[in-house]
Formats: sequence, C-alpha cells, structure tokens
Amino acid sequence: MRNRRSALATMAGAASLALALSACGQSSEGGSEEKAGSSEGATIGIAMPTKSSERWIADGNNVKKDLESKGYKTKLVYGEDDPDQQVSQIENLITQGVKALIVAAIDNKSMNNVLQQAKDADIPVISYDRLILGTENVDYYASFDNEKVGELQGNYIVEKLGLKDGSKKGPFNIELFAGSNDDNNTRYFFQGAMNVLQPYIDKKQLVVRSKQTALTQVTTLRWDGGTAQKRMDDILTSAYKTERVDAVLSPYDGISIGILSALKSDDYGSKNKPLPVVTGQDAEVASVKSIIADQQSMTVYKDTRELAKVASNMVDALLNDKKPETNDTETYDNGSKVVPAYLLEPVAVDKANYQKVVVDSGYIKESDLN
Ligand code: BGC
Repeated sequence: MRNRRSALATMAGAASLALALSACGQSSEGGSEEKAGSSEGATIGIAMPTKSSERWIADGNNVKKDLESKGYKTKLVYGEDDPDQQVSQIENLITQGVKALIVAAIDNKSMNNVLQQAKDADIPVISYDRLILGTENVDYYASFDNEKVGELQGNYIVEKLGLKDGSKKGPFNIELFAGSNDDNNTRYFFQGAMNVLQPYIDKKQLVVRSKQTALTQVTTLRWDGGTAQKRMDDILTSAYKTERVDAVLSPYDGISIGILSALKSDDYGSKNKPLPVVTGQDAEVASVKSIIADQQSMTVYKDTRELAKVASNMVDALLNDKKPETNDTETYDNGSKVVPAYLLEPVAVDKANYQKVVVDSGYIKESDLN
C-alpha cells in the first residue's frame, strides 16, 4: 500500500510538473485565446460514491452529459462506498491529467492527501453534494439546502401527527435515524429535523422510547438500509413491547425501506396496527412506489439534474477564468475555510404531490412506477 501510494504520489508529482510546465508555456506565450483553448476539450474527472443508490447513478450521468454538452470529455468513476478505493480513483484521475475534479465524497475527511495532489497539479475541485472537510483544497461546493431537508422531514412528522398550531395532542412515540457519520450532510439533515422535533420532545408530546436521541447513537454507516432494518428490529424488540411507534425520522429512502421491512415483520401495516409516519429523501423509484402504496409517508425530492448543472457550470467558469455563481458564502465551513456554495431547494413529496413534482417534471417516468 505504502509503496503504491508513494509511487502514485511520484506519478502525480510528475503530472503536476508537466501541467505546471505546460501552463508556464501558455502564459509565457500569452494570449487569452490560447487560455480558452486550454480548457476546450479538457477532460473532467467525476468521482461519485456508489452505484447502490439510484440518485448517484443519475448524478454521474447528468454531470457527464452536461459537461459533454459544453465540449468537455469526462471520466466518471464510482467508489462503491469504499473510501480508500475512492481516494485511489481520484489519484488515478489526477495522473491521467484531468483539468478539474467533481467529487461526491464517501468519507468527507479522507481527502486531504489526494486533494493536495490536485492542488499541486493546479486542478480545481468542486465538492459535489457532500462537503469535503478539513482541507483548503476545495474550491466550490454545489449542494442543496441540507438543513432544510431535515426541516421538511421534521415538519411532515409534526403535521401528520397533528401537533402543529400549538395542539396539545400526544404523547406520540417516535424513533430517530440519521445518515452515515462520515458524510457531512448527516449532521445538517439531523439538525434541521431536530430543530423542528426537539421542542415537542421537550414538551413530552413526542417520546423516544429507545432513548437514542444523540446523533452518535442514531447514525447509519454508509446509509445502509440493512443496518437500519437491524437497528429498527432491535428497537422494536427492546422498547415496544406493548407500545406502538407512531413516527420514524428517516433521512434517506434506502434507510426508510429498511425501516419499513422491520416494521412489517412486526405486523405494522396490518389491520389493527397502522404503519407509523416514515420520512425519506431522494425520491427513489422504490420509495415513490412505497408512498403510492401508503407505506412510506414522504420523501424529499432534490432535482439532481439541476445539481449536475450547477457543478458543470462551476467547472466551466473556473476553466475559463470566470467566477462561478454562488448563493451562500457563509454557511459551509469545512474546518479549513468557508467554501463558497450554490445551494438548491429541496421539496417535500408525498402521495398528494408526487405526480406533479416528480413525474410531470420528468424526474421519474410514470411507467417506472407501475
Ligand atoms: C445525500 C442524500 C443521500 C445520501 C445517501 C447524502 O449525502 O445528500 O441525498 O440520500 O447521501 O446516499
């Protein structure tokens, strides 16, 4: 490993030297025309986290398509949820001479060395959807308003349980799930949801019978549905002998499907034992189908086609010496710098509006839902 790493580092060093030399050549000869020429037809590296979830497949394809429509070539890689694999994929992209990188990190803290290599080779880096932490070598961040995602989930629960508008209803039992602890989005989603839910927990209108309320107790490594299913099973066995669970905060559709499996194994969804309110995120086909079938209650739709456009535009601007468009230059501090960001708006989707929001917009084909 060590040898391979240092060999790669040497190769990256050579690549960066070559790039530096060619950059020197251009600037010494001068001329903006040549500069524009340098980005034309350039290859952009796109590193996505996993193919195990639909959204990332769509993200990868959309970014590729957008960049290609602007005249770039692309190299798209998937890290299959293995942080080491993703890092070596990015090292390879750098040695292959990509001119910019778009990275949706698996482990947001594992990128320091490889992004230093990118920096040394003068390769700008866009942090895609998930903020990369602890390094100066991230140029821009393209994402959604991640705290708002959690707020939409929390609000949906509060509304469906009839707790809105100062009602004294309850107590209702709720269980909390969060995403992967190595994904920076996890804390924003959870924070957003808890901003809404915590006051009701404090007033005892919502009760977490498992007592697992701290983020560290409720995360789900790599957003794995099976892991969430197991945790829900354990909670139902230990904390719900006679009681019923009324709501489950779930941060992502794959986790929601796992939670629903555990609930159904415990007879929820049968005539006298209604399913709880279960949230989600990403408007994945399986979950939209589940919503139509009155199982999962809602999901949060994030139009990844738009996100892909934002990221591609950022790259295009950077490679043409323009300033990428941002709409938030304060929120996303990665520990080393505040990363200028462009954030898109997430939308809550349930049975009442899925047709309009995800089908009519062309995000999901109607035929995929049958
Ligand atoms: C994304 C979510 C996604 C999750 C699991 C997060 O970083 O923002 O949209 O559900 O990863 O893939």
